[in-house]
Amino acid sequence: MRAEISAAEAELLLQATIKGELPDTRGRFGPFGGRYIPETLVPAFERLEQGIADHLHTDSFQNDYRRELREWVGRPTALSHAPRLSERWGTDVWLKREDLAHTGAHKINNAIGQALLAKRLGAKRVIAETGAGQHGVASAAACARLGLPCRVYMGAVDIERQAPNVDRMLRLGAEVLPVETGDKTLRAAIDEALREWVTDPDGIYYLLGSAVGAHPYPYLVRELQSVIGHEARQQIIEQAGGLPDVAFACVGGGSNAIGLFYPLVGDADIELIGVEAGGTGDGLGQNAATLATGTPGVLQGCYSIILQDEHGNVQETHSVSAGLDYSGVGPEHALFQAIGRVKYISATDSEALEALEELCELEGVLTALETAHAYAAAKKWSADNPGKRILIGNSGRGDKDMPTLTKYPARTRSYAAT
Ligand SMILES: *Cc1c(COP(=O)(O)O)cnc(C)c1O
Repeated sequence: MRAEISAAEAELLLQATIKGELPDTRGRFGPFGGRYIPETLVPAFERLEQGIADHLHTDSFQNDYRRELREWVGRPTALSHAPRLSERWGTDVWLKREDLAHTGAHKINNAIGQALLAKRLGAKRVIAETGAGQHGVASAAACARLGLPCRVYMGAVDIERQAPNVDRMLRLGAEVLPVETGDKTLRAAIDEALREWVTDPDGIYYLLGSAVGAHPYPYLVRELQSVIGHEARQQIIEQAGGLPDVAFACVGGGSNAIGLFYPLVGDADIELIGVEAGGTGDGLGQNAATLATGTPGVLQGCYSIILQDEHGNVQETHSVSAGLDYSGVGPEHALFQAIGRVKYISATDSEALEALEELCELEGVLTALETAHAYAAAKKWSADNPGKRILIGNSGRGDKDMPTLTKYPARTRSYAAT
């Protein structure tokens, strides 16, 4: 069952989005979002909400944030034309290079922004959760930069799967806490981090890694990641001579996608397409295609679309890319789907692996496995839309994926032969 939104209501919600009026005062994006949390967490969330209102859009905060993005993260990241891929696909392809950002993905935009906010709020230390480890690494780096002690909760299963990232976090001065409860992966790590936050909401800042969770996190993360779309919009006008016909981004929790899409939603002629992990098949548990196959429900404090069985039990997910392996998705994406502004589709593990190979060989860019899902979908779209201009959010680099990739033999020779 999906929340039904009439055409008139959808238009109002789209206009509200464009005017920057969402989320509303209750943290809602239309029917989605909000804050479904236990009483014990209310003071911590209220304090954060007040802190954002007091600081985020002040000149003083924005000056600090922009300086860190420029001098430490390496922004603006490049917009690269992809001439050989364009020739192969028959479209005009442009890549927004978040892989060139410090620590290798878009996650650092959010981590350094929230770490700056933590300082403003007088926090003594930071806690964070991580699944694959990328957000943990970004948080550890941002905290080291600002001299904040950092503790990262990570599921015991993920610690085993992602050993190199654990080592990176430790070297960056963070403490990594194994989580043995629940599913021992990302969901359990978030629960444990929230549990610790309750014990000292004034002294601890909880640095959440995607555009998910209870209000105000989906809003905060969108505001910090929107730098991607603002830069890309300006760059593509300057370099390509106009706006794209379509923009693609991969969607896990949805932070890189909301960062690229949000500044483009008002451009009615740009089609926006989010790409989820189609895994190995359509069955529950075989993928992480939340918006494509899920149903409305509450997960980790937020009403959105989630993967659950008919009894409301949240389902495990599967994807070859650890960063897309999550059973929920940000509430603003649920809204964009419901009002028809963004289309959400999926690409399978093998389609993503194939797309990664093609991009590597034709453009010299080893993209992240997460990002490769966006390429797989963009390639299919190209077949039906020759000559169109495509913008792809290249959310991160694939160096971290080498242990996974070595399990699949390189196929570059077969591409070279075509
Ligand atoms: C973590 C990650 C993602 C997925 O997270 P979102 O919040 O959906 O952006 C996508 N790409 C890369 C490279 C990542 O590291």
